[in-house]
Amino acid sequence: MNIVIATLFPDMCETVLNESIIGRARRANHIQISCKNIRDYTENKHRRVDDKPYGGGRGMVMQAQPVYSCYLSACEEQKPYVIYMSPKGTKLTEEKVKELSEKEYIFIICGHYEGVDQRVIDKIVDEEISIGDYVVTGGELPALILTDAVARLIDGVLPDEEAFINESHWDGYLEHPQYTHPEFWDDRRVPEVLLSGHHKNIEAWKKENSIKIT
Ligand code: SAH
Repeated sequence: MNIVIATLFPDMCETVLNESIIGRARRANHIQISCKNIRDYTENKHRRVDDKPYGGGRGMVMQAQPVYSCYLSACEEQKPYVIYMSPKGTKLTEEKVKELSEKEYIFIICGHYEGVDQRVIDKIVDEEISIGDYVVTGGELPALILTDAVARLIDGVLPDEEAFINESHWDGYLEHPQYTHPEFWDDRRVPEVLLSGHHKNIEAWKKENSIKIT
C-alpha cells in the first residue's frame, strides 16, 4: 500500500506520521506513506498557490494548476485512487476504511482556506471523504485520520489480525471496557470476573458488555 498526501503543510503531516505505530510501520516498510508539498508544483513565480474566489466572497481558494501538477507527478508509474478530504464528502466509516485498505495506491488531496478550485476536483478526484459534519481549517488532520485508520489494517502494521478484528466498529459492535493494574484504584475495583482466570466466563462478560455498550 502506497499513500501520498498532497498538502501545503507537509511538516504538519510528517510530524504525526513519524510517531508511534505508523512511524514504526513506515520505517519497517510495511507501508509507504509520503507527503508532497503542493507549493513545489506551482508555476507562479512568487510561489503562489491560491487566489480570491470568483464571484466574490471571503477567503482564498487553492488554484487548480499546482494541485493538478502535483497529482501528475504522482502518476508516473501508476495511476492512484484520488481522494479529496472535504466536509461535503461521504462520511468516513470503518466499512469505507476496509474498502480503501484494498487499494494499492491512494493520493489524498488536503484543501486549505476556502477549499480547492472545483475544476481540478472534477477532473481528477475519484471520491470526496469527510471526517464528520463539522469544518476544520485544513485537510491535513482529516487526511491523517484516514491514513491512520487505513494503515492499521495493512499487513505488518499491527502485530496480527486479532489486534483490529476485535476492536470497536469492526463488526458493528463497540468494544467492552478495558482495565489494567492496579486491581483497586480510587476505591474502584476491576470487575471480579476479569480476575477469575475463567476464560469462558471472561469471554461471556466481554461479549455481554460489548452488546450492552453498542
Ligand atoms: N469552504 C469549505 C470549507 C473549507 S475548510 C466549505 O464550506 O465546505 C478547508 C479544507 O479543510 C477543505 O478544503 C477540506 O480539505 C478540509 N476539511 C474541512 N473540514 C473537513 C471535514 N469535515 N472532513 C474532511 N475535510 C475537511
